Amino acid sequence: MMNAPALRIRLALPGRRVEVAHPAPTGPARLDELLPFMYAVDDAAIAVAVGQARKSGANVSCAKGCSACCKRQPVPVTPAEAHGLARRVQALPQPRRARVEQRFADAVAQLRAAGLFDTFMRDTPIDGPAQARDAATAYMALGLVCPFLEDDACSIHAQRPFVCRQYLVSSPPALCADPLQQPVAVLDIPVRPAGAMLALTPPLGGKPAFTVPLVLALAYAARHADTPPRSDDARQTLAQWLDGLLPS
Ligand code: SF4
Repeated sequence: MMNAPALRIRLALPGRRVEVAHPAPTGPARLDELLPFMYAVDDAAIAVAVGQARKSGANVSCAKGCSACCKRQPVPVTPAEAHGLARRVQALPQPRRARVEQRFADAVAQLRAAGLFDTFMRDTPIDGPAQARDAATAYMALGLVCPFLEDDACSIHAQRPFVCRQYLVSSPPALCADPLQQPVAVLDIPVRPAGAMLALTPPLGGKPAFTVPLVLALAYAARHADTPPRSDDARQTLAQWLDGLLPS
């Protein structure tokens, strides 16, 4: 990836055009190999949204040291991100790798004990918004901490998933501990990178692509180790992703 040629794009956001140039693979590639380019585009759009929010008087509460959302929320990641995170953990030096894997294993064990593992792996269907909300409430009651949170900071900050980049609030940080019950003011980011990514991901086992909580990323990647989502033409896939980025 370091030697991949840069791809330069212009993104027409509401009220502002931004240019992004970042290395991106050419030819066949796994979808997780496209993530660094996608994250660069997402960051550019987020910077515009934050600038516009500040101009209109909103202050972003999120800052290093505040990790309320990393300690309870399900943090949905796309299939490509799950595979990318699994590869990242595999590449960690020991004994750090073992520590991080143990945190993932502990979270999986808690989800199994609570009867939530099958729900969030979509082995049992979620029947409508009310059931989805109940599942999210039960998940948050477990207080699962993201395995990448260390000393109250994200240890994979540059490679954190779409949802971690996009979840920025202007309300008091304490409210993020229970966003289903408390009035959290989330910044409106004008791009939908995870949705556009899901649209690129082929069905697996007859099921449409879906997100899983970050703590299930290793379990998801292990289950689908033989079928990581791929592209035959990385640049064409990125063009499709860019087409789906702005809500229609
Ligand atoms: S990946 Fe980083 S930002 Fe996202 S939940 Fe984990 S620690 Fe928090």
